[in-house]
Formats: sequence, C-alpha cells, structure tokens
Amino acid sequence: MSASDVRPAVPEWLLPPADVNELVEAVWPPRAGRDDLGALSIGGIATTDLAAQFGTPLYVLDQDAVVAQARRVRQAFDDAAARHGTTARVYYAGKAFLSTEIVRWVTAEGLAVDVATGGELAVALAAGADPARIGLHGNNKSRLELARAVELGVGSVIVDSLVEIDRLAEIAAARGAVQPVLVRVNSGVHAETHDFLATAHEDQKFGFALTDAEAVVARIRELPSLRFVGLHCHIGSQIFGTAGFAESASRLVAVHARLLGGGDVPVLNLGGGFGIAYTSVDDPTPIEDLADGIVAAVARECEAHGIPLPMLAFEPGRAIVGRAGVTLYEVGTTKPVRVSDELERLYVSVDGGMSDNARPALYGAAYSARVANRRSDAPAALSRVVGRHCESGDIVVDAEYLPADVTPGDLLAVPATGAYCYSLASNYNYVPRPPVVAVSNGVARVIVRGETIDDLLARDAGIPTEGAE
Ligand SMILES: *Cc1c(COP(=O)(O)O)cnc(C)c1O
Repeated sequence: MSASDVRPAVPEWLLPPADVNELVEAVWPPRAGRDDLGALSIGGIATTDLAAQFGTPLYVLDQDAVVAQARRVRQAFDDAAARHGTTARVYYAGKAFLSTEIVRWVTAEGLAVDVATGGELAVALAAGADPARIGLHGNNKSRLELARAVELGVGSVIVDSLVEIDRLAEIAAARGAVQPVLVRVNSGVHAETHDFLATAHEDQKFGFALTDAEAVVARIRELPSLRFVGLHCHIGSQIFGTAGFAESASRLVAVHARLLGGGDVPVLNLGGGFGIAYTSVDDPTPIEDLADGIVAAVARECEAHGIPLPMLAFEPGRAIVGRAGVTLYEVGTTKPVRVSDELERLYVSVDGGMSDNARPALYGAAYSARVANRRSDAPAALSRVVGRHCESGDIVVDAEYLPADVTPGDLLAVPATGAYCYSLASNYNYVPRPPVVAVSNGVARVIVRGETIDDLLARDAGIPTEGAE
C-alpha cells in the first residue's frame, strides 16, 4: 500500500488561505517576513539574494532563532526543575542537525550534547564540546566508539543491551576508567503527536523492558568499571502535550524508587520528542508549559514514593532547530494533473526533493510552502510540491495552496526544515547535497559547504586519477 492510498486527495485540515502570500507565524522563523518588493526575508536577508548568492536548493538556518530557542528551552527546564527543588540538564540531540557551528551555538547557551555515533561524536569534539557534557547513544555502538568515549571521558554512555554492558565494562576496565552509564528502558509508552499509546511490552529495538531494569542495574553495579547513574527513556518524536511524558515518568519513577534500595540514582533522563509546528494545523504546547507539566508529573510520582527528585535530563532536537530552518528551491516545471472529475492538482517540480528532505517519503510528514520571490494576486491552487528524483513518492509538500500563477523560475520556500532534513540528506540520483547557510542580522555565511559533482565522483574507485598508471 502506498502513501497515496491512505491519504485523502486533500487533507481535511487544509483550507484555501485568504491570502496565498500569508506566512503562518508558528511555522516560520521568528522575524521572517516579506520586504517592500514582496520577497520573503529571513534573518534580515531577502531569500532572492540568498538564492542568487548561494544557489538552490539551499538550507537556510536562522542563527538567532536557534540560539534564542536553545536559551528558551534550557531556561524552561531550569525554571521548572528549580520550582521543584532540583536541577535539569538539557542535551541538544545532535542527530536533528549537527555541524560544529550549531554545537558552538547551543553549548554557549548552556546545553550539553547528545550524539549517537562516532561520526556525530567527532563533530561535537571538533566544535570544542566538553566530553563530560556529551551523552553517547545507540543500540549498536562499536568497540571503537565505546573505547573512544571512555578515553575521552564522555559524561554518559546510554547502554542498550547486556552485550554492550559487558563490552563497555571490559573496555573501561582495560583503561582503568570508571564509565558513568544510563540504562535505556522502554516505558511502554509510545507517543505519536496527538495521542499516546501505553502498552506492557514493546516490540522494538531500543532499550530494556522496564521489568528487566532492576536485574540490568544490579549487573552494572557488580562491575567496578561502570557506574550506574540513572534510567533513560525516549518515548518518541513530534509529541504534543504532556500526557505521554507524564505516563512514562510515572512508570519510570516507580522503578527508579526501587533502584534506590541498591545505591545512588542521581539522574532521570526523559529524552526528547517535543513537537513543533510544520503546518497551520499544528499547535504545539509552549515549551514552558511542557517543561512545567513534565517536571510536576515527576515530582508528584517522587512524592508518592517518598523519594527525593533526581536531577532531570532532557534531549530536545527538533524543538531547538526545527523552526529555524527554511529550504529554498527553484521551481523548474509546473503541470496541472486531473485527479478526479472535481479535482485538479498543480504539480510543482523543484530542483531538490527527497535527497534534501526525506521526511515526507519516510514518514508521510506534512510541510507547507510559499512562493518566496514575489507576492501574487492569483487565486489559490491546490498544489503538490515534488522533487526531481526518480520516485513518485518524491514529495516535498504533499498538499498546499500555492498561487495559481506559480511558474518556472519562481523561488519556493519550505519552512520548518531545520531538523532532520540536512541530517537525513542523501546523494540519491547523484544529486549533490545543498549547502547550509546561517543568517543573522542581515549577514549570511556558509556553515556547511554544498557538495559538488567532483565530491560525488571522488569516492568512485573506478575513475582513473591523474598521474595513475
Ligand atoms: C531522536 C532522539 C532525541 C531527539 O528527538 P527530537 O524529536 O528531535 O526531540 C532525543 N533522544 C533520543 C534518544 C533520540 O533518539
């Protein structure tokens, strides 16, 4: 079954806008707007200038928006924790978008950093991140990755299996180190945007069953080269509301309380997953309210068990960078397609696609779009923005109302692409990955260089290099 079989031709929530030029505030970076000529501007720069200078497709990241959001999220959890007499640590989940620049921005705002591979770890280190404030995740970390983490003094390794516990203990012992570890558990709570589902068992690869946690921690406590510091749980992504986190916290605190019988448990890590607005229909809970609701739920459970509140850790990725990113494309072709007797859809092909934004193809994710180079007085036309790849599922924006006069050469902007677009980018069809440009106060600079065709050819071992025999 393909995605189009389950999707209605037009999603119920999508209504023709009163003004096709309108920028729905929640999905665009703060201060995005249209200049006197009608062109969209981000960070004080016209997108037409950005496209002229750097080409398209182009990832644009509003630096001030990332910095402000990192500060706001950290402050929200700090304040919520302080109200309940504990402290919080916010890790930026690097997999959402990782480059040395962004690591510097968020660590300067007091965030720690989460990585999931040796590659992500290398980027965080290249940015000068303090290893003691790095968390290493992953269900299959290699021996090399674990050894590197121990050697560097990575602050916490989140262990995911018994195999890994023994492997890590052996590596740490050989180096005479004591490695702090968190134990990843499944709380049985899955949160999916508007609903959450709570089950007794989970059929997925991450973590230990909550019912096994005590035995696992007992094993770790027997190993002198490991130090158990707490439980870790990540219930999902793009979650709205506190209910799923509260349910998960309640299950976790019960186990946390029992673990106190065998020694210290200073930390409880509740992961990330805080949702953002991708389209006009998304209405995420303000992070202050989320932080307050989650910490209050943990505090209630701790009180019920008669235990002190541990230090709390959180791992937002999308909530830090998602809204700060906008992708610019150039329209190459347009084509009206009759979908039924009543419905025509305008297909708008852009010069990128699933190689720079895999989320629609991967998850059926919804996005929105606007013509960026000009205002239009044309009526709204039901449109689908598609990429240039050889897949019919190569969709950038499944359904959107664009001005009916959208035309080849127009610049198209897709907002809320700061998270999981660059990081999930591929070279499918040998399309070079676009550059990432940071904008701030009217200045734009490349923070990740775009790939060239030469970059793509460079790894093909069958191409004779100059001077080779
Ligand atoms: C992906 C992930 C996160 C971040 O998720 P967001 O939805 O970007 O906030 C945090 N923790 C873990 C363990 C993850 O896998």
